Amino acid sequence: MADAKPMLIGDEWVSDSGAVLKSINPATGATNYAVCAATRAEVNRAVEIAQQAASAPTWRDMLPHLRARLLSGVAELIEARADEFARIQMQENGKVWRECRAQAHSAAAIFRYYAAVCETITETLTPSRGNYVSMTVHEPYGVVAAITPWNSPLTMEAQKVAPAIAAGNAVILKPSEITSSPALELGKAALEAGLPPGILNVLPGSGAVAGDALVRHPGVQFVSFTGGTESGRRIAAAAAEKLMPVALELGGKSPHIVFADADINAAIAAVSDGIFEASGQSCVAGSRLFVQRSVHDQVLAGIVERAKALRIDLPDAPGAQFGPLASFTHRDRISGIVDKARAEGGEVVAGGGRPPFEKLSSGAYYLPTVIAGLSNQASVCQHELFGPVLCVLPFDDEEDLVRQANDSVYGLAAGVWTADYRRAWRVARGLEAGTVWINTYKQLSVSTPFGGFKQSGIGREKGARGLRLYQQEKALYFG
Ligand code: NAD
Repeated sequence: MADAKPMLIGDEWVSDSGAVLKSINPATGATNYAVCAATRAEVNRAVEIAQQAASAPTWRDMLPHLRARLLSGVAELIEARADEFARIQMQENGKVWRECRAQAHSAAAIFRYYAAVCETITETLTPSRGNYVSMTVHEPYGVVAAITPWNSPLTMEAQKVAPAIAAGNAVILKPSEITSSPALELGKAALEAGLPPGILNVLPGSGAVAGDALVRHPGVQFVSFTGGTESGRRIAAAAAEKLMPVALELGGKSPHIVFADADINAAIAAVSDGIFEASGQSCVAGSRLFVQRSVHDQVLAGIVERAKALRIDLPDAPGAQFGPLASFTHRDRISGIVDKARAEGGEVVAGGGRPPFEKLSSGAYYLPTVIAGLSNQASVCQHELFGPVLCVLPFDDEEDLVRQANDSVYGLAAGVWTADYRRAWRVARGLEAGTVWINTYKQLSVSTPFGGFKQSGIGREKGARGLRLYQQEKALYFG
């Protein structure tokens, strides 16, 4: 389609696939633009180009400090265009401006971090047991597919593309159907920074067509996926057929725990931010709140007060704290789940519907919602909503609390608030989660590994070893 945004294959901007995606602004319902979508033909073409780029001696043998310089160049371009990156994300997923801007700068910082890792990571000699010298070296896979969700495309895409490229691969990035543009802008920046054509290709398209074709393509040797657990399961099954390794960052239903001895005001603020930031569309959102019974009513009242005081507005309105959900379908799904929670006996003590403001009526808004009176077995406590809905559950003793907190198929993150460091240690070690925050919540750093236990994922991204995720180990023996 002539006026659809083109995809990037090698150094060509391709717009004749015959398929398009429509981008809708969830804050207003207005159409943003059309984006050209990849079909199997474009996937085949992109894999071929990526294979050539990955195996070209100029890329394969490039010295790490020179590869690092290219990554730093991408970081500089993202930083210089941070407002533009932030604006396109905001337009496509409705995140408030403050969050989008912070994520654009964070994307630049991720490229800078992996430039540093690329230059400084070392190979190791292994203990010799004979008349030889032995060591391990790491080789790139070749062509890596990076498949991303819509909630934080700026950071998630940087989090995959930067280490995969630093590791010496060529990447085919398939962004979510509803947030194609940040990835396309990243492709543009990569070319401008001097990355060889074909090292980063960007194929917007549907999961069922472009995503599935990428995962099954024999030329793709590793898939790094972030998204829902059901999609992750399908990708893992397809990868098993090829015996291809995958990294999966999946869903969560994170417990946030407040003991009576905690700094209650700090805990209330963190619990509220931990579920309502990004309108709850965060994989680590603390969506199940366990509160020790003696402070239950006090904590619940504090959270309800904060939920009602949040500034709900258009994402670019000055001071906006809470924007729309990323799509109308998603809003309707959340609304249905809250209705079901009501039917199961849940008491909706805040929110539970659309905001009553005329200027937001055409957007995909849903109020910050707090539900009390359910058990951890209720379906709203067991299934990931990925929206601004907090379930508040009282607990009495520590052992039972840990059992309930772990009674979930997910294991992505958790938070514990207590003044007792021995208890903090015991509970944090007992929780089945890839990240546990103690007297803080949702702190995230590119230098600290991130990933899930149980059905929240396989593998760890970020950190210096996040680069190794995109390489395979080879043993060398010198006689
Ligand atoms: P989704 O699983 O529907 O889609 C994610 C991506 O996968 C999209 O690009 C989609 O097109 C693609 N896809 C879907 N099915 C596919 C298939 N069979 N083969 C190949 N690609 C396929 O998820 P979403 O709705 O975009 O995002 C929300 C989900 O992402 C939530 O479950 C959330 O918890 C999860 N998430 C996890 C993390 C994490 O780090 N653990 C971070 C953010 C979001």
